[in-house]
Amino acid sequence: MDQTTARPLQDRPRSTQDYLGLEARYGADNYKPMDVVLTRGEGVWVWDVDGRRYLDALSAYSAVNQGHCHPRILAAMVEQAGRLTLTSRAFRNDQLGLFYEEICALTRTSAVLPMNSGAEAVESALKVARKWGYQVKGVPENQAEIIVCGDNFHGRTLAIVGFSTDPVSRADFGPFTPGFLVVPYGDAAALQAAITPNTVAILLEPIQGEAGVIIPPDGYLRAVRRLATEHRVIMVLDEIQTGLGRTGRLLAEEHEGVEADLTLVGKALSGGFYPISAVLSNAEIMGVLKPGEHGSTFGGNPLACAVARMALRVLTEEGMIENAAIQGARLLAGLRAIGSPRVRDIRGRGLMLAVELHEHAAPVCEALRKSGVLCKETHENTIRIAPPLVITGEQVDWALERFAAALK
Ligand SMILES: *Cc1c(COP(=O)(O)O)cnc(C)c1O
Repeated sequence: MDQTTARPLQDRPRSTQDYLGLEARYGADNYKPMDVVLTRGEGVWVWDVDGRRYLDALSAYSAVNQGHCHPRILAAMVEQAGRLTLTSRAFRNDQLGLFYEEICALTRTSAVLPMNSGAEAVESALKVARKWGYQVKGVPENQAEIIVCGDNFHGRTLAIVGFSTDPVSRADFGPFTPGFLVVPYGDAAALQAAITPNTVAILLEPIQGEAGVIIPPDGYLRAVRRLATEHRVIMVLDEIQTGLGRTGRLLAEEHEGVEADLTLVGKALSGGFYPISAVLSNAEIMGVLKPGEHGSTFGGNPLACAVARMALRVLTEEGMIENAAIQGARLLAGLRAIGSPRVRDIRGRGLMLAVELHEHAAPVCEALRKSGVLCKETHENTIRIAPPLVITGEQVDWALERFAAALK
């Protein structure tokens, strides 16, 4: 089929500058994207409107773990989109139950709450944890406390930015939801000291992505698990970025052999096709939610479920998780071998890596862009590197040549 006649929106071609102008003229100014306008993607590659090709080393913050426009996810989405997209939860659909069954089997979960964005999954888990605290743990009314970690990133809604420690995320958005307490990340003793009889949950990331790929000390997640169990506190792991293969395991918690009580997934749950998130829980905790107490018009819709089912299937059937471990190790070793004096630290687990510089990272990201690699700095000095999990050894080596040139 002719690409142009098949496109429902008959846009005339415009230049990069035109698109930048439109965004500046009409858009909210809440992002500062790199000035590259992408129009097409396939696997690890994306193309801009001038036809230049780039290796995507960000993967939409790990939402496109399966690679851009994965053909099997695309086919599942198109097929479902032509059949049934939305029923609301007033009625049932024939994809939701199958999605439940498959994600539960894959993650050894017993109950699932489907939502849309990552932030919504976080909010939902906080609501569930509070309700559990009152109804099961017996915390006095409105006294529930939830512990979170410094430098956390859990999304952008009001409750969530209220317990962020990033001043830019919080400034002028108050007043905030009470009931949250911040402890330093990676410090089990601080967590222990913060727990009170009213503590209902500890919410944390297994690796802090937005903070700059901060990997906690060995044994930290096991210590959190032990404290949570000892004090009857729900361990909520936000695996929205670390989950679904990114770190070389299905879930990052597996690196320490622990199981959270509530696990949050999103981003790659759709392979980048559609906003889908979920709260995965053991039955006892999710059991506190009764009809009418929580919901979402689009949560659990058949299009989302069909896309998520295929996104999970390709992740496992096509060996992407194992590949993340293999190529992540190759990339980490290759980055370390560059040996640039401009580099302060290189760290990573699976294909979630970071190069921390002694200097600002934005100019290096700009140099990488010119050589065909798209990266985005996080904080001032850190380059986050997280290509799709379908990257090959050859593509890793191709990227490494460019990293070496940009860091020399
Ligand atoms: C991206 C992200 C979120 C928020 O997800 P949205 O879909 O942007 O709301 C929450 N937690 C973590 C760890 C994330 O990386």
